[in-house]
Amino acid sequence: MSLNDSSDEKESEAQTSSTRICTACFSSVRPGSDHFCCSTTAVSNLIFLAFTLGTLKAEQVASGILKKRMDDENIKKGSQFRVSTGGNPIMITIGTADKKSERKSVQQISLQLIKELQIVLELSLNKTKQLVSVLRKGMESQLAVESNVLGKLKDLEQTISAYYQVEKVISDDI
Ligand SMILES: [Zn+2]
Repeated sequence: MSLNDSSDEKESEAQTSSTRICTACFSSVRPGSDHFCCSTTAVSNLIFLAFTLGTLKAEQVASGILKKRMDDENIKKGSQFRVSTGGNPIMITIGTADKKSERKSVQQISLQLIKELQIVLELSLNKTKQLVSVLRKGMESQLAVESNVLGKLKDLEQTISAYYQVEKVISDDI
């Protein structure tokens, strides 16, 4: 964050010469006057102080803290981590995983598994299509099933049937 940022924001109360910031509780204190110094209010006082910089800069403080945490603990973009709130911790996710494969929130159902289900349940291609669509809808993700699984199944069947024809032709010749 640059100190040279041109900004129309008024000089905050905390920065005026008549007030000082207590380094224990981060309250703004007038010199010579007492304040109720309590370290448990430090967090809310710091949040208040951040907002004296303006909403945008307060957000930069918040994102800066989260970014530092991600850097320090090598937390990858798109992965969930726990953040202390002083009450119930919250789980947050920042950004999207760089690798597409890491964006999946559930294990993906592979072509192989769909093929096995098709064989075991004796599903036609139409029924398999329904199965895939129900799985994707139910798991609320297009990625729940390997992409273009039906196209790949058709290719697979064509490859197999091509084999049959070749063998048939050969056996007819004999
Ligand atoms: Zn204090």
